[in-house]
Amino acid sequence: VPLDLADGPARQGSLRRHNLGLVLRELAAGPCTRADLARRTGLTKATISGFVETLASAGFVEQAPGGPVARGAPGRPANPVRLGPGAPVALGVEIGVDFLSACVVAPTGEVLARHRHARDHRKGEPQGRLAQAVAEAVALVAALRGRVGRLGRVAGVGVAVPGVVGPEGRVRSAPNLPGWNGLDVRAELARHLGPFGDGRAPAGPVAGRDRFVVEVGNEADLGALGELWYGDHSGLRDFALVSAEVGVGAGIVVGGRLFSGATGAAGELGHLTIDPDGPLCGCGSRGCLERYAGQEALLKGAGVHDVAGLRDAADRGEPRALAVLSRAGSGLGVASAALVNLVDVPALVLGGIYAELAPYLVPALSAELRVRAVRHLWDPVRLLVADLGPEAAMRGAAGVVLQRALSDPATHFPEVAG
Ligand SMILES: [Zn+2]
Repeated sequence: VPLDLADGPARQGSLRRHNLGLVLRELAAGPCTRADLARRTGLTKATISGFVETLASAGFVEQAPGGPVARGAPGRPANPVRLGPGAPVALGVEIGVDFLSACVVAPTGEVLARHRHARDHRKGEPQGRLAQAVAEAVALVAALRGRVGRLGRVAGVGVAVPGVVGPEGRVRSAPNLPGWNGLDVRAELARHLGPFGDGRAPAGPVAGRDRFVVEVGNEADLGALGELWYGDHSGLRDFALVSAEVGVGAGIVVGGRLFSGATGAAGELGHLTIDPDGPLCGCGSRGCLERYAGQEALLKGAGVHDVAGLRDAADRGEPRALAVLSRAGSGLGVASAALVNLVDVPALVLGGIYAELAPYLVPALSAELRVRAVRHLWDPVRLLVADLGPEAAMRGAAGVVLQRALSDPATHFPEVAG
């Protein structure tokens, strides 16, 4: 939140909003005492007590049970507080090429409810298909929200889509969803979000329409943020999430921040050229990585119907499956080495279907990296498997919403505006 230091009263207001956000984000990391909060935020104990009181009266925080006994005050608990059942939750959705998934995420990152089902978004008239996908997603999150049964406010909804998305929420390019280029996902969401956006939530209070956060982003980018915030990678701050479903993409994180390029199109790994004379790709080019390492290429090449079947065939040692996976691993290695040479990330996290197929991809992939990635001379690229599996993108999408709402709770929730 940029602070306008020139303006007296505005400065007071925005400082309070900023500081309240600091306190709420500390509480999202776990229970702590008022003294802990004062130490970590640099605010006075009196200010902290005022904030805790405001947050408690709105149901955002509550007294944590037990808690450590304060030093020098035998038997007197230090009164830790924690997020309460009224704390804001976020909804995360992924509209995949061939599936739809959604979840409800608590400010702590805990997934309170989740759902995923198969749905082919490729067939039919594009605008109608998007409208149907969004309507279905909204119904799904409403149902999940009801199932959670908490009093928590809904901070907003984050939606991951398999394509390049502009900052205004419009799809710029989605090679695996024919006709979706130019479709406005955010506008479609706004049309369907009535039950959330205008306060008539199916269960419990929600933020007002203008305060309801709507985020739309690329699935690989949001997946990378999901792994960064909620994955168990012990402080990994520089990496690329290399993941595949039908398409192949990379989400690049540098210094703990997403690098998505000037227009959001960075990390289009699936459309790096492996062979300039190779087969035609949905993007209009030839010989793209996706044609060798995307889900369709893998299944068709191995003569199986789904990823579980491919994994089974590989486990049984079927030569056709092993050959397809080895070829995909090589292609992935060539493309990933280019990525590593350009942005200098020390680790690649394999996500989506690559997480499941990793044992069969890694040998050829690391052989190519050894030869082609320059940094391999002094610090070999680490290959890791995604922690969140196929949930990474929807959890990252919910995480983006939580980050925004928790950094400025007074703007998003009038009840703590003070
Ligand atoms: Zn392509």
